[in-house]
Amino acid sequence: MSDDQQRDERRRRSRRELLAGGALFWAAGAASAAAEQRAGDVGFTYGDLRHVTVRGKLVPAHKTLARLYGAEAARSAPETYLLLHGDLRFYTFLPNAAYLKLTAGGSRSGHAIEVHARQFPGSMILEIERWREIPVAALRWLYFCPVCVIYSRDPGPCVCCGREVERVTDSAILNEKLGPAAK
Ligand SMILES: [Zn+2]
Repeated sequence: MSDDQQRDERRRRSRRELLAGGALFWAAGAASAAAEQRAGDVGFTYGDLRHVTVRGKLVPAHKTLARLYGAEAARSAPETYLLLHGDLRFYTFLPNAAYLKLTAGGSRSGHAIEVHARQFPGSMILEIERWREIPVAALRWLYFCPVCVIYSRDPGPCVCCGREVERVTDSAILNEKLGPAAK
């Protein structure tokens, strides 16, 4: 086993223990996350944060929630934006400088966006570190971690083992997991 493989193995094991740890979860999680974060990172003291890469469509919160659920935001409230991930799962954002740039003028509303962010523990709230526009077709791309046998629509590190995931190009698997592509 190479050094890299051994390190990956250790990392995998510690994540598994972390997930299975019950009462130890919080203590172990905080220690592990603190070790992974670098001093000087934004909000270094937040604790058990995950770095995530997620793709979705940027949608206006008020209009979208009104259409889906009849929710009424106050008319005077400024529009905010959500990341629609998959079919009906929303991420919200901490309104930091990167968020303000992403949503400035609303010109990217409805666009496909990839966000690198920190996800706050127990929440769907993202703190954007960087973002980019991506082709709409990329929202249907599928990724696979051969170690954990997990499929995901998001690129970047596997949510379980932290290893880089591989893009799936086998159309039979894509059809099975996502349904036939819209024409
Ligand atoms: Zn994995």
